[in-house]
Amino acid sequence: MSILFKSGTIVTMSEGRDIIWDGSLYVEGDRIVEVGKTADLVPKYEAKADRVVDATHRVLYPGFLNIHCHSTLLACRGRAEDASNWDAIWGIMASISEAMTPEDAYMASMLAHVEMLKSGVTTVVDSGSHMIRAGDAAVDSGIRAFLHQTFRDADPVKIKEQGIYEYIPAIGDQGLQRAVELVEKFQGQDRGRIQCLMGPHATDVCSPDLLQRARREADRLGVGVTIHLAQNDVEPQQCKDAWGDWPGRMMEKAGLLGPDFIGAHAIFLNDEDIAVLARNHCSVSHNAQINAKRAHIAPVSDMIEAGINVGLGTDNMFYDIIEVMKVAQIAWRLRGGDPTQPAPETVLEMASINGSRALGMQDQVGSLEAGKLADVIMINYNRPRYTPRVQENVISNLIHFGTSNDVEMTVVGGRILVEDFTYIGGDEEAIVDQAQQSGAEVWARAREDWSRRMAKRKK
Ligand SMILES: [Zn+2]
Repeated sequence: MSILFKSGTIVTMSEGRDIIWDGSLYVEGDRIVEVGKTADLVPKYEAKADRVVDATHRVLYPGFLNIHCHSTLLACRGRAEDASNWDAIWGIMASISEAMTPEDAYMASMLAHVEMLKSGVTTVVDSGSHMIRAGDAAVDSGIRAFLHQTFRDADPVKIKEQGIYEYIPAIGDQGLQRAVELVEKFQGQDRGRIQCLMGPHATDVCSPDLLQRARREADRLGVGVTIHLAQNDVEPQQCKDAWGDWPGRMMEKAGLLGPDFIGAHAIFLNDEDIAVLARNHCSVSHNAQINAKRAHIAPVSDMIEAGINVGLGTDNMFYDIIEVMKVAQIAWRLRGGDPTQPAPETVLEMASINGSRALGMQDQVGSLEAGKLADVIMINYNRPRYTPRVQENVISNLIHFGTSNDVEMTVVGGRILVEDFTYIGGDEEAIVDQAQQSGAEVWARAREDWSRRMAKRKK
C-alpha cells in the first residue's frame, strides 16, 4: 500500500532538524520514499498513491518512542499512584499481578497499546507479568515493540515480608530461563516489528553474577539490555552494602553496560554513576511523569551534559507520551531553575531520535527521512489550543499545549493503526469493554490481598 500525506507541516527530526512548511510525505510499503515540498511531491506521487491524506492544518511527526513501560500494570491505575513506594510495589502492584490470569494480561496490554498508539507512540519497550500473552498483544495490536521478561535472584518473599535481601541462584536461573524463552519466541516476528531485550529487574535485586550471565545471554541472542536503575533510594544503598559498589560501577564490573544498555528511571545517581554510564555510552529512560507522582525528579540535565543519551518512558498505569513530554520539561525547569531550559525541541528529541538511538534503531525510526520505516503520526493543529500557528512555534505548541486527543492518525511500518482519532487496528470499543470487565475482576480478586499486605506493613 502507498500513502501520500499532502500539504501539511512536517517536523522531520532529521540531522538538520528541518521543519517543512507546506510539505508532503510519500510512503510505499513499510518505508518512507520521499519527504519534501508539496509542489515537488504531488506531481510525482498523487496519481499513483493508493491513498491520499489531506494534511492541511496538520503536523506530521515521527512516531514517538516509549522506552520504558509495563503494559500489564495498566490494571493498577488509579490506586498505586497515591500509595507510598513500598505499598505501590509490594502491596498493590504485586497483588494485582498475582491476581491476573494470562488473559487479563493480554487485555491490559492490548488496551495499553491502543492508548499509546492514540498518543502517537509507535515503538514501545514493554515488560510485565504473563509476558507471553503480553507479547501476543504486541503482535496483535500492530505496535512496534521490544519485549522483555524481567528476572532477579533476590528472593521476593523475603523482601516483601521482612525487607531482607537474600540472593538465591536457583531463582535467578529460573528467571533467566524464562527471559531467554521470551526472546526465542518473539525476536524478529512480523518482519522484525517485534524485538526483544534482556531485562534483569533492578540493581538491588540482581547479583553481579546474574548480571554477568544476563549480558552473556544478550550477546548470544543479539539483543540489548535494560534494567531499573536507582529508581528509589533503597536501591543504590543496597548495592553498596551487598557488593561494595554503587550501581554504576557494580554494573560496569559485571560487564552489563554498553551502547545497547537502557537504565530506566536513573533518579538516585551520584557523580560516579553518571560518569560510568557516560563512558560506557549508555542510554537512560527518563520516566518524568511517574517519577513526579512519586515526588522525584531525575538529574536529566546532568546526564545529558555528561553525554548520556536520554529518551522518555511512561512506565506504569498511564501510557500518554505527550503528557510525559510536558512533565519532563516542567520537572527539568523546576530542578534547574532556568525557564529557558530545556527547549521544547530538546524534549521532542528525547521522545523521538534519542529513543531510537537507545534501541539501536536510529537508522530505522525516530525521524521522517527517505528510506526509514514509515512510523508516522499526524496531529490535528486546527484547534484553538495551537492557534496562532507559525513556523517558529510548531514544536513549542505541542510540548506546552498539546494533547493526545489531537493525534488523528498513527502509522506503524506503513500500516494505518489510528485513523480519525480512533484505533482501527482492531475494534477499539470492544477492547475497552473487555479490558474494563477483566480489570474490574482483577481488582475484586486482589483488593483483599493488598489491604492485608499494607496493613501488615503499617504495624
Ligand atoms: Zn518500570
